[in-house]
Amino acid sequence: MSAHTSNTGATEGTLFMVAAPSGAGKSTLVNALLEREPSISLSISHTTRPPRPGEQYGRHYYFVERTEFEREVVEGIFLEHAEVHGNFYGTSRKTVQDLLQQGRDVLLEIDWQGAAQIRKAKPDCVSVFILPPSRTELERRLRGRGSDSEEVIERRLRNSRGEIAHAHEFDYIVVNDRFEDALDTLQAIVRAVRQRSSLQCQRHETLIRELLANT
Ligand code: 5GP
Repeated sequence: MSAHTSNTGATEGTLFMVAAPSGAGKSTLVNALLEREPSISLSISHTTRPPRPGEQYGRHYYFVERTEFEREVVEGIFLEHAEVHGNFYGTSRKTVQDLLQQGRDVLLEIDWQGAAQIRKAKPDCVSVFILPPSRTELERRLRGRGSDSEEVIERRLRNSRGEIAHAHEFDYIVVNDRFEDALDTLQAIVRAVRQRSSLQCQRHETLIRELLANT
């Protein structure tokens, strides 16, 4: 894992990815993490999925028509894109790269297919997979959301196996049993990653040089 310097001279930010089967509590965990670590920027994805009640354009997703999404794919604006549960989702290349270059850490909420594409494009990214504590609990949480139809819930439950089968490809796995414990663990991962020597040697170059100097 090596650290990069952006063309502004700042140490490039770290790209974090969080994936999970639908209903594992990923978004709630990520939102709580961002409250604790406000220096991380959440990347807002583009999607062809219709908004759920309460979801806002530009805050939760950029909701777009399928034809617009397909045009954006051709134009190459996505760092990664994938079909998930019958809808398309994509991450804006420019937004992510600009933030990283400014030295900001960026977090992507993404599925396993997108995570695999990002690993190829940015091998120094850090990936976390969230597991529910049981299948019963996964189902309970999916139904508890109350905003999806039975058909959507059934499809997401069926698809959860396909997502979980890729958990081993991620750098870290966190079981979201007790929410506060899972949140603490997620925050600990972020904090540990930020202390990697490859990053610290760049950030504290002057300090290290000073400490090594013969006086
Ligand atoms: P939801 O429709 O519940 O918001 O998200 C469904 C799935 O799509 C989740 O697993 C979520 O992480 C994933 N997803 C959201 N945004 C993106 C994206 O930009 N790229 C990819 N590959 N998956 C995404």
